[in-house]
Amino acid sequence: MYMGHYAIALGARRWLRPLPMAWLLFASIEPDLHDAVGNAIPALSIGPDTHTLVGVTGAALIVTLLAAILFRQVSLALGSGLLVLSHVGVDYLTSRLPLWRHGPDIGLHLYATPWADFLLEALVMVAGLILYAASPDLRRPARGSLIGMGLLMLAMQAIWNFGLGSR
Ligand SMILES: [Zn+2]
Repeated sequence: MYMGHYAIALGARRWLRPLPMAWLLFASIEPDLHDAVGNAIPALSIGPDTHTLVGVTGAALIVTLLAAILFRQVSLALGSGLLVLSHVGVDYLTSRLPLWRHGPDIGLHLYATPWADFLLEALVMVAGLILYAASPDLRRPARGSLIGMGLLMLAMQAIWNFGLGSR
């Protein structure tokens, strides 16, 4: 999943308001950040494990622990860990991922059908933004800019699905 991850972070803010938005975004794309580190430093040999069951569970536990230390509230810590798990959960819809290193690949692989992936991610974006907008603490200007943010996310998703030629 691509922009959908960010939409999930935005929607999760509904329940995890005390957490900084940057932390929510970090937790929701942690496995991909982990991938980037693995690609940059192959010697770490973490590339193949970031989206496996063991890999994502480990990452979720560490993020949960970090959040517990940083934000000192069980619900915020658990919510952070769930966001990490959500990443790989929804990636199973859009990709095919190994369950464990060298294990069998599973997943719907909607990326192979760009319009279906676009539709799914658009739905996740709408749901995430509606949840985000429902936050009682948001001031009116923030709500007003949501449509702009939604359109920007849709445009980036469309470029991802339809605009990159051979991928
Ligand atoms: Zn991913």
